[in-house]
Amino acid sequence: MPLHLLDHPLAAHIITHLRDKTTKPATFRTLSYHLSLLLAIEATGDLETEEKLIETPLEPVTGRVLTPQPLVVVPILRAGLGMVQPFTDLFPDVSVGYVGLERDHETARARSYYCKVPPLMDRHVFIVDPMLATGGSAVQALTVVKQHGATDARLICIVSAPEGVAEVEKYHPGTVIHTAALDRELNARKYILPGLGDFGDRLYGT
Ligand code: URA
Repeated sequence: MPLHLLDHPLAAHIITHLRDKTTKPATFRTLSYHLSLLLAIEATGDLETEEKLIETPLEPVTGRVLTPQPLVVVPILRAGLGMVQPFTDLFPDVSVGYVGLERDHETARARSYYCKVPPLMDRHVFIVDPMLATGGSAVQALTVVKQHGATDARLICIVSAPEGVAEVEKYHPGTVIHTAALDRELNARKYILPGLGDFGDRLYGT
């Protein structure tokens, strides 16, 4: 299973403060930004690079730079929006697509209400969704990006549940998932335990 668990003391520190119910939305947003930045760095660790000859103030040296390559970040609305800025900060040429999937609080199923993505063929696609709970939204988002031509789509999450990971593996086997935490289980209302509550509500103070 290509599940990559972010292993970094700073990530552990941040996730603990995100879980803390006394953390206020403004701090929650900052922490989400920092953790997503670490995840974005981790998830782009295999981008192609090429040699470049430059001159330091002292002598010429051959270094490496990123090969120009199209990247697309696709947040699942609305909570995924909290994970976009690290990608646009690190990769200013990244394109942003949007998939709007809403969690029906009665049935806990994903309902699609918006989709706008650029052509995705031959691009590295990063679907960002902070909470991989049942996996329903992630599976639907992966289906959508594949319908738009994506062949290299990976999933970036802050907290994942084993049930969600298994669902993604069932419907999109081999999908690379980067997550900062793999939690214990879902509760009866399909929230992740121990989790951090409703990410979107905590991000936007709703
Ligand atoms: N979405 C959330 O925001 N939190 C959960 O625990 C599960 C899904």
